[in-house]
Amino acid sequence: MLIEHQCPQCGAPATLEETDHLFTCGFCRVKSYLLSSVYQYLLPHSAPEGKDLIYFPYWRFKGMLFSCTRNGIKHRIVDVSHQGIPSTYFPVSLGLRSQTQKLRFVSPETKGLFLKPSFPHKEVIEIIEERFSAKLPKPIYNQSFVGETLSILYSPFYADAKVFDAVLNRPVSPELPEDFDITSMAGGSPEWQVQFIVAQCPDCGWDLEGEKDSLALNCKNCETVWQSGKGQFMKLTFGHIPEEGGNLIYLPFWRIRGDISGIQLNSYADLVKVANLPKVVQEEWKEQGFRFWAPAFKIRPENFLTFSRNLTLSQPQEEVVKKLPEAPLYPVTLSITEAVESLRLTMASFVKPQRTMLPKIPNTVIKPKSFILVYIPFHEKGNELTQPAFRLRLNKNLLAFAKHL
Ligand SMILES: [Zn+2]
Ligand SMILES: [Zn+2]
Repeated sequence: MLIEHQCPQCGAPATLEETDHLFTCGFCRVKSYLLSSVYQYLLPHSAPEGKDLIYFPYWRFKGMLFSCTRNGIKHRIVDVSHQGIPSTYFPVSLGLRSQTQKLRFVSPETKGLFLKPSFPHKEVIEIIEERFSAKLPKPIYNQSFVGETLSILYSPFYADAKVFDAVLNRPVSPELPEDFDITSMAGGSPEWQVQFIVAQCPDCGWDLEGEKDSLALNCKNCETVWQSGKGQFMKLTFGHIPEEGGNLIYLPFWRIRGDISGIQLNSYADLVKVANLPKVVQEEWKEQGFRFWAPAFKIRPENFLTFSRNLTLSQPQEEVVKKLPEAPLYPVTLSITEAVESLRLTMASFVKPQRTMLPKIPNTVIKPKSFILVYIPFHEKGNELTQPAFRLRLNKNLLAFAKHL
């Protein structure tokens, strides 16, 4: 999806991609950073003059859906929209409208009646999960939506004798009843507004660096890493596993500590038992705290699962140096919030024996307690990226492709 936009500093027009966060104005050169939020977009209308526009809300979800069944973990990529208000007068989903039109951010000045979503997004996620899991063997031990984009897309309509789609100028409803009154639905002017801040280090004022789709920006001057928080930048705890030599690229991962109940998994010794690893438990492993690992970048679902599983089973003990590495960094494109969604799934991917352990998964609770962003070195050779110590391997073309997932 493309978004028509104006530079928040000088007002020059620009086009953003849906995944863009860091925006460098081609005119005034100021770097602005889009604060994270549930973004609200609208589709441009082409209604005849004088029609009172009604903006109907759709929840939009994009991400990877994993379903853990007794025959293994199934995954698929989901990109769907669904009514934000249950109504028989408006289309159930957006269909292809959002792919053929440039979007705009909603702003309080936009004219028209913006109907307020009445369906909480969690309920819509449940509807979508049910729809996609209908054909899977039951029981399903865990379902996780990861790497999700959640946004609200307003599509314009107007009402005459029928409800008309104001993008295509076509009726979408049957004849409206006499007493149809759109103003009886909750709505008004939009309250939401997109927020940008200048991409400068809050500590030292230096320009922050990152790719345009980065969720974390680096200050090379004072060696800090920042992510967007509530209305401002927040400092991230980060580090890297050092390695000597050339042809290296560092990929970002989240290392997460959580309180786990339902399955005993507090130490490396517990992990050896729970995953039935072919190892004899050493006394010191009982003191070695268990951590989850997950990629901090968008990647295909099968790779996401393998990476999370292999790293979590490896429990890397290498020293994490709290500095930025010299070698190139791959941008953070998957947030900690999304990574946290994957923890139960990761656990489901390694418990053994599955017959007795998988039924315990629905009753486990994982409360994330703390996290750190860790850059791990990969060897670059042709199109292959490899990390032999943790048995990770990735094709660069697939990585580039996954940016748009
Ligand atoms: Zn500008
Ligand atoms: Zn700084």
